[in-house]
Amino acid sequence: MPCELCGRECKGGKEAIIDGAKMFVCPDCMKYAEGFVEQEPPRPSSPIQPQRAPLKKTLNIERDIYKDKGMQKELVNDWNHLIEHARKKKGLSREELGFKIGERTVTIAKLENGDLRPSDQTIAKLEKELSIRLLEEVKEVPAGTQKGSAATFTLGDFIKTDK
Ligand SMILES: [Zn+2]
Repeated sequence: MPCELCGRECKGGKEAIIDGAKMFVCPDCMKYAEGFVEQEPPRPSSPIQPQRAPLKKTLNIERDIYKDKGMQKELVNDWNHLIEHARKKKGLSREELGFKIGERTVTIAKLENGDLRPSDQTIAKLEKELSIRLLEEVKEVPAGTQKGSAATFTLGDFIKTDK
């Protein structure tokens, strides 16, 4: 029976679900399948079961990468307001602050408006000049051993960073 996807005559083909339709595919084309049509009578181990193992492995690998990177530093949420407040507290004009850290007044204005993200160098200068901390360490939340909690963490982290 030829593979309904690539048309090749194949051995060991299987009925698979592709794009929601039942198709007979060769082993090469099985990677496109969303699922397989179980031909034997239903057993306790459903066809979805074997696919879980590699998924778990991928998650573990991702977690290891996070671990290797250690802590990441990110700009605090209200960094631009922080700059403005700290500058005013020090009684500095945008011009004066710009002069101190070697940036143009317009750059300071853009930073305070949040239109421009400061470079690492500028961050360091601003922190020193204004005695503030613009970076916060984003620690990896110890994800539970459950796959579910790892996924929740990732999603929550996204929402947090997006704000
Ligand atoms: Zn094929």
